[in-house]
Amino acid sequence: MFDLLIENGRLVMPDGIVRKSMAVKDGRIAAIFPSQKNVDAKHTVDAKDCFILPGVIDDHTHFDEPGYTEWEDFFHGSRAAAKGGVTTILDMPLNNVPPVTSAVRLQKKAALALGKSYVDFGLWGALIRTNRKDLPDLAEAGAIAYKCFMCDAGSDYTDLNLEEIADRLQVLKQLGGLAGFHCEDFQMLKDSEEQCLREGKKARQDYLNVHSIASEKKAVSDLIDVVRNTGARAHICHVSHPDVAELIAEAKREGLHITAETCPQYLLLRDTDYLKRGAIFKCSPPLRSETARKQLWQYVADGTIDTVASDHSPCTLARKDESGLKGAFGAWGGLSGVQTTLQGFWNLAVHEHEASPLLVAKVLAENPAKIFGLWGRKGALLPGFDADFVLLDAQRDWEIKAKQLEYLNKFSAFVGLTGQGLPVATYLRGQCIYEDGSFPAAPQGKFVLAKGHPVV
Ligand SMILES: [Zn+2]
Repeated sequence: MFDLLIENGRLVMPDGIVRKSMAVKDGRIAAIFPSQKNVDAKHTVDAKDCFILPGVIDDHTHFDEPGYTEWEDFFHGSRAAAKGGVTTILDMPLNNVPPVTSAVRLQKKAALALGKSYVDFGLWGALIRTNRKDLPDLAEAGAIAYKCFMCDAGSDYTDLNLEEIADRLQVLKQLGGLAGFHCEDFQMLKDSEEQCLREGKKARQDYLNVHSIASEKKAVSDLIDVVRNTGARAHICHVSHPDVAELIAEAKREGLHITAETCPQYLLLRDTDYLKRGAIFKCSPPLRSETARKQLWQYVADGTIDTVASDHSPCTLARKDESGLKGAFGAWGGLSGVQTTLQGFWNLAVHEHEASPLLVAKVLAENPAKIFGLWGRKGALLPGFDADFVLLDAQRDWEIKAKQLEYLNKFSAFVGLTGQGLPVATYLRGQCIYEDGSFPAAPQGKFVLAKGHPVV
């Protein structure tokens, strides 16, 4: 007898959408078969013609625990994730005190999240100047990937220069590890920000000018050169502009091992939102023009950009203050979005661009699973995979309201956005973790380790 049977849904499988039933046993998808077949199951769910998508794997979140727990924590961040159809998050090693530079710190962070997280979680390790020797232990401890900055990320999280990046990529190649990069050029940013502040220029437009497309392009093309010279692989985080995506398209055509992510903010919002409405819309790289926003979509549609992740990077409202000495430069640069990625991207892709739901499943689940070594366990509705899935009502209209957000700090640049197609129920390893406004189970998210290591 099966534990769970899902009937009357439209299953979004890797190579097509089928009206079939899905059976779950022991937390995994046990079988998919024609709906008329008579089967025994402990529980049956009528999906009422909803689309059933693989649970979203958000490969870029900052849940800020330990260290910045007044900004976000695993409890609130993961509730928001569950409500938004996310079943696995891969959390970044910074905005943590201490940053996750070693195996011991990774294990401590994992222990903190267990019992608090509603969704499964993998942890990124740090890739900074001083932790080269820690990388083998981080790999052994199951770090899902390694985050590196090509510009200043704050004093305790050092950036790497190109020589150091080449060296670390060789180390990670031996370990089978993947590095993900924040691509903005250190020197260009530093020089232009210092000049602005010297001249008393600290308005939002000045921030946009400093965080230029040119600086993002320079960092990406430098990184592509390193990948070409080392034969290693690299993942480019939060691509904000079509010109940057074009560099990645060329690198892919050349056969280099580059993958790339963009975020809903670059596909749904624009620089004028930031200029008019303020620091809640501040992120790094910053929002770009309306023309760029529209063009960036094409690079998601054509497969140049592999994944769409939230870069959920919250803070307190006080940290969005622009009245300090550094003006707009002083406000925190990050947006909250883990809860609204699926609905925002679904509306853009399926409703506005009439793309197939297959694309949604590909960039939100299948590709992140493959890139981060979770394929075979997560990322698709296939027998043997974890029964992580979300029911999405394609007819449901929505408007994002602050009071609906599960974040610790209930504000977001996406508040006010409207669309159609809403996740209504989320299942993690066969257990319902969210349904129509309620959370029926206690947090039971597990620590997902990189390929070759089990879930614990
Ligand atoms: Zn980030």
